[in-house]
Amino acid sequence: MLKIHNPATGALIAEVPESNVDIVTQRTRAARAAQPAWAATPLEVRLQVMQRFRAALVAELEPLASTLTKEVGKPIRQSRNEINGLLGRIDFFVMQAATTLAPQQLFDEGGTREVLSFDALGVVANISAWNYPYFVGGNVFVPALLAGNAVLYKPSEFATLTGLHIARLLHESGVPTDVFVPLIGRGDVGAALLAQDVNGVFFTGSYATGAKIAQTVGARFIKLQLELGGKDPTYVAEDADVKIAAESLADGAMYNAGQSCCSVERVYVHESIHDAFVAAFVETVRGFKIGDPGSEETYIGAITRAPQLDVLDAQVADALAKGATLRVGGKRLAGPGNWFEPTVFTEVDHSMELMREESFGPVIGIQKVFGDAEALRLMNDTRYGLTAGVFTKDEARARALLAKVNAGSVYWNCCDRVSPRLPWSGHGDSGVGLTLSALGIQTFTRPRAWHLRQP
Ligand code: NAD
Repeated sequence: MLKIHNPATGALIAEVPESNVDIVTQRTRAARAAQPAWAATPLEVRLQVMQRFRAALVAELEPLASTLTKEVGKPIRQSRNEINGLLGRIDFFVMQAATTLAPQQLFDEGGTREVLSFDALGVVANISAWNYPYFVGGNVFVPALLAGNAVLYKPSEFATLTGLHIARLLHESGVPTDVFVPLIGRGDVGAALLAQDVNGVFFTGSYATGAKIAQTVGARFIKLQLELGGKDPTYVAEDADVKIAAESLADGAMYNAGQSCCSVERVYVHESIHDAFVAAFVETVRGFKIGDPGSEETYIGAITRAPQLDVLDAQVADALAKGATLRVGGKRLAGPGNWFEPTVFTEVDHSMELMREESFGPVIGIQKVFGDAEALRLMNDTRYGLTAGVFTKDEARARALLAKVNAGSVYWNCCDRVSPRLPWSGHGDSGVGLTLSALGIQTFTRPRAWHLRQP
């Protein structure tokens, strides 16, 4: 049995049967058998199923948000935001799927036609993270199902109840039970899934697990997508609006207690506005209410995984030992559950872990810089490349800088933002492949090239 604990209190909230290797094998075989009929179902029917799933999310929004808050410790308002955000993503995929999946005639001359079609990959594994289970799961299973795939879905062991709700609602909406298959458990269940006959692996999670998965499936030449962590930087230039930049970046760093793949993790501020920026940033952070995730007023909830507290403690100790200045926070909160104060450091540099490795918590370093060239060099001094941003009044200057930053998504005067219309992808150790956008539908297909000659 998988024990589910509330990270805000430590209380045991559920015990759920785990899927063993036999179950994973049987369910994969059943998915393989069921997938051709699903792919042969008219797209119109699959679109209707997805619209019913959307309506079911709306109808059950409050209990679903409450479950998410209880099992991951996310403030209730942020849980609602996430489910509402998934509705917008479903709307995009439903609107876009027919155009994107339609065969394209690209040539017709002298009796010869060339046609490009998009077939479903087949059976795909969706191994998911806990921090935004509706988003990171939905980015895969919504377009994968619309494209005609069967999906073997392994929710994170820290978001299992949400994963089971997603499966129930998809089944009630008309996805056959063998076409969307939840597999419950920890990393060993994910590993068992990798050993199956699947046509693609779509993973969201840490670099360490992503690297293991790449080694395991690499030689099989199946489609592999890895959406991994980041150390996302933002540069605040001297002409930026200090208050707007500070408030926006404090939110980008601390929303969901910093447990977002695209959280702002490093800030570089021009020396001429550094002190004013730090004052506004710290004031904003002091205003964030930390506490009961079920309360409407709470902005910072619990840390979902207890081991992450050790990572945060170690980054704080390392930064202090190397001369950083602690402006606010810096330690765990006493009492039951997993809690860490929102924490801001200044006088930081790249010798510190805090500026090099993903914190994945409410901890941020602000570093003084003396100009664009230094900011750019520091932003690119990382093995990751998920997002990066620049705050300045000058669009041309921002675009010139952002064009040289090694990141899949770049932001001018904004941060921590994801759009269903644009592809979501990482450079370097932030991963390979993409989700979202029209490309994020095509990625669940195999293009077929048709050369057709009239006799
Ligand atoms: P994790 O790597 O610990 O776990 C992710 C999933 O992999 C879980 O379902 C887990 O059970 C499974 N797993 C673990 N070991 C496995 C193995 N050997 N084989 C197969 N599956 C295995 O990551 P996490 O703690 O759930 O997620 C946090 C990480 O995810 C952070 O680094 C965050 O930045 C990243 N993330 C990235 C994105 C993105 O879009 N780039 C989005 C959300 C989260």
